[in-house]
Amino acid sequence: MKKNLKDYSLAELENMIREMGHPAYRARQVAEWLFQKGAASFDEMTNIPRGLRESLSTAYAPGALQVLKKQVSGRGGTVKYLLGLADGQAVETVLMRYTYGLSACLSTQVGCRMGCRLCASAAGGKVRNLSPGEIYDQVLSVQRDTGERVSRIVLMGTGEPLDNLDNTLKFIYLVTAVYALNISMRHITLSTCGVVPGIEKLANLKLPLTLAVSLHAPEDGLRSNLLPINNRYPLGSLMEACRRYIETTGRRMTFEYALIAGVNDSREHATKLSKLLRGMLCHVNLIPFNRVPGKPYTATGPGTVQAFRQELERAGIRVTVRRRLGEDIDAACGQLRRRNISQSGD
Ligand code: SF4
Repeated sequence: MKKNLKDYSLAELENMIREMGHPAYRARQVAEWLFQKGAASFDEMTNIPRGLRESLSTAYAPGALQVLKKQVSGRGGTVKYLLGLADGQAVETVLMRYTYGLSACLSTQVGCRMGCRLCASAAGGKVRNLSPGEIYDQVLSVQRDTGERVSRIVLMGTGEPLDNLDNTLKFIYLVTAVYALNISMRHITLSTCGVVPGIEKLANLKLPLTLAVSLHAPEDGLRSNLLPINNRYPLGSLMEACRRYIETTGRRMTFEYALIAGVNDSREHATKLSKLLRGMLCHVNLIPFNRVPGKPYTATGPGTVQAFRQELERAGIRVTVRRRLGEDIDAACGQLRRRNISQSGD
C-alpha cells in the first residue's frame, strides 16, 4: 500500500523532494495542495512539474477518505460521517454547526482499547491507530462535503488521543501550520478518559490547547466501574496531573460529566464533585447521556440535571449543560461504525 503523503510535515516533504532532485520550494507548493486545497489526486497539482508528480505517485498517495455513509440530524445541522480508510477500515467523524462556525469531532483510532462502559466505541477493542494524515483527512472530508471551512476541532471521536499521542501531536502541528489550515491551537480540544502520562507530556509541551477530561464520577469506586482506566490512574493521580497541566499552560480545563439516571447524578455526587474541583481553573460540561444500545444506562431527567448544575454553581464552579446534538443519528461515538460492521457481517 502506498504511504499517505499527508503523514509528512513541510520539513519532511522538503527533504523528500530534494532527494528526488527537485528544488525544496516545491515542497511548500505540494503541501498547500495537500493540506489547504485538499487535492485528492496528483493530477490536480497543476503548478507541480509532471516529473515530480510522477515520482511522488510511485510511492505515495495524496490521501483522501471515502464517504461510506452520512447521517444528517434533523436538529441543529449535525452530520455524522462514516469514512473509509485506504486499508478498508472505517472511522466516524461528526460535524457540528455553531454560531461561530463549523466544528469537526475527529477519531484518532479505529476502535479503542480503553473499555469505557458508557461508550459504543469500546466494544470490539482497538483495531489500530490512525496516522496523522488520516486524522487530517477527516477535516478535509467535512470541508469537501460542506464546501465550508472548519474552524474548530475536537478530538473526541472514537479512540483515546493520548493512546496515540505521537500521531495526534503531529496532526495538531500540521493542522495549525500556516501552509495548512492554520487553525488556532486555542480552537482545538483534546479529550481524554484520563491517561495520566499523556496529560503530563502535554503539560510539559505547554501547548495552548483545551484539555477535556471525561470524569463521569467524583469517587474512585464508581469511576473505576464506569472507566476502567481509573484502576490504573486513580482520581488522586489524575487530579494531580490536571492541576499541573493548568499550572504550566495557564489554560482552563474542561471536565466532562455524563449524567446517568440513578448512577452518578445525586446531590451527594454533585457535592463530592465540587470538592474534587475546588480551586481549579476549570469548567464542567454536563452531558445528558446518549443512550447506547445494549448498555443499561438512561439519561438523567431535566429537573435533576438542573439541581446538579446548581449544586456545582453554588460552589463557584463554571458549568454548562451541553445541548443534545444529533440524538436521532446514533449520536454516541462508535455507533455508526459498529452498525456498519455488523451489517457487513465482519
Ligand atoms: S469513551 Fe473514548 S476512551 Fe473511552 S472507550 Fe470510548 S472512545 Fe475509548
